[in-house]
Amino acid sequence: MKSLRSFKKSLWVYHFNSGSCNGCEIEIVAAITPRYDPERFGIRLVGSPRHADVMLVTGPVTRKMEPRLRRVYAQMPDPKMVVVVGVCGSSGSPFYESYNLVGPVDQVIPVDVYVPGCPPRPEGILYGVVKAVEKLEQLEGKA
Ligand code: SF4
Repeated sequence: MKSLRSFKKSLWVYHFNSGSCNGCEIEIVAAITPRYDPERFGIRLVGSPRHADVMLVTGPVTRKMEPRLRRVYAQMPDPKMVVVVGVCGSSGSPFYESYNLVGPVDQVIPVDVYVPGCPPRPEGILYGVVKAVEKLEQLEGKA
């Protein structure tokens, strides 16, 4: 939590579903409820990748979503972080051999933080975002 308090600006987060079953989405929504209240640290979801510091990606990457994921990643300003939420995005998980799958997220765009779980708990998702904050601080020479 120390790194959150010392972060010099709010952290805006964009969520992208590259082929999730929506289980991870339910946990992301849980993570932004008043029980966890990440907005008190300046962490909030935004509707445009052009405003985001961090992108949360859920699910493996389907063929249909691959070009969209590349485009959305390119729209984010630098420096930027990508956090993969759930084992589908890190390994393909049960969908690995699907005919419709390109593969895990890191076969399409660079990934900075992996949050394991199927789905991960809200605490795990927020911990992944905190790790992204720390990496962003290092990139900005503040750590
Ligand atoms: S990790 Fe689990 S909950 Fe998340 S998209 Fe994959 S199957 Fe669904």
